[in-house]
Amino acid sequence: MAGNNPQIVLERRAGRQLMGCLAAIVIFGCLVCIAIQPDAVVEILGFFGIMLALVLFSKRHDHSKKRNIILTPQGIQFSEGGEFASTADIFKSEKYYNPASIPWNELGEVKHLKKVSKNRTDHGTTESVYNILELMKTDSSREHANPSVIYYCGNLGRQVLNSHTTFTAERAVRLIEKLRDADSEEERIQILNDTYVGKSPGEIKREIRNTPWKQRLTRYCPACKLIILVDGRKEQSEQRCHSCGSNEIYKDEDEYLKTLDKKA
Ligand SMILES: [Zn+2]
Repeated sequence: MAGNNPQIVLERRAGRQLMGCLAAIVIFGCLVCIAIQPDAVVEILGFFGIMLALVLFSKRHDHSKKRNIILTPQGIQFSEGGEFASTADIFKSEKYYNPASIPWNELGEVKHLKKVSKNRTDHGTTESVYNILELMKTDSSREHANPSVIYYCGNLGRQVLNSHTTFTAERAVRLIEKLRDADSEEERIQILNDTYVGKSPGEIKREIRNTPWKQRLTRYCPACKLIILVDGRKEQSEQRCHSCGSNEIYKDEDEYLKTLDKKA
């Protein structure tokens, strides 16, 4: 990551893994049904085939590499669009993988929109939020041009490539604006190098393996809403969240809530 040409790649790994799990559950369910009802193989395969196709092709489930956002000292690279208007559109992928890049000095306003969809279930309504980023260009000849739209993420956020760190849409916007407002390429290299992007999964595994059982402490990070393992032999100020690097971590959620009460 460090060096003269650092970059931060934001991918939708958590979403992709969730899709993988769902696909595995569908296939497993299919096998169980065939085992129970061997006579109805054709119907069962048809039903689960449709389920699998829905899981794999649904618009929310587009987590391929083409969708990565890449932040470099020169600019931001991404792929535009992502809203499928109809089922037929799902198969016209060239329409929705429009690779684009904007150099930092041409980037204008960055908007973060939240699209809330309500799902009615038997137990009432649940809300799911989808985060969308709109990037305007400063180019005055295109003043009324449409913004570039990035389908950022659902509730799971985006993950930094090769790291455990999650970037919420809010955190991504803060970083994009900071890079846009920097005065020089050197300053942007500095910002990218200084941004905490976490350790690689291998590194974290090694650290945990090298920590004796009794010294493995669970801690709660309120910023990430995550439970993490830290090395109890380290000074408290050196015990940090794997995801955001913050050392404001607590024994558990209750302890964190108590500190809020004290401040109030
Ligand atoms: Zn954290």
